[in-house]
Amino acid sequence: MDIDRVKQIARVFLTETYGIELSIPVERNNRLRTTQGRYVIKHDDTPLRIELSGQTLEYGTEGAIIGIVKHECIHYALHQLGKPYQDGSAYFEAELKKHDAPRTGTCFIGKLYTFTCDDCGQVGETWRKQLTLTPEKYRTTCCRGTLTWIGEKIYNGSNELLY
Ligand SMILES: [Zn+2]
Ligand SMILES: [Zn+2]
Repeated sequence: MDIDRVKQIARVFLTETYGIELSIPVERNNRLRTTQGRYVIKHDDTPLRIELSGQTLEYGTEGAIIGIVKHECIHYALHQLGKPYQDGSAYFEAELKKHDAPRTGTCFIGKLYTFTCDDCGQVGETWRKQLTLTPEKYRTTCCRGTLTWIGEKIYNGSNELLY
């Protein structure tokens, strides 16, 4: 999904739901890996921006992306309104539920590389592309054995993957 489309969704959601203007940038961040999006604030509590990972924009389904955008917008809106806005706080979690937005860490979007442990055969996944290039430099966590790279998997956010 295009970042401009994301901004549009964020703007509409914020005005319709909270009557709040989107006054911070919404940006694509290709370095975000383990999280799909984030709400960034300065150390002095000033809202800075909302970021979405490149992988999310690249591979996420429309529904999954909308859910993530809503999640980050709710952080921003509650912060603006002076309400508890952190992941895990009861107030924030209730708002997520109310607006059908996913909780943090419940969905993964992106490309993962899969491998098997040469000792026990267990299949593992990693987002480190380097592993496919130099598998000999890595050891599995199960057996500290060598591994064989077998392929890649793309998660689009419609299937839940829990850590
Ligand atoms: Zn969050
Ligand atoms: Zn093993």
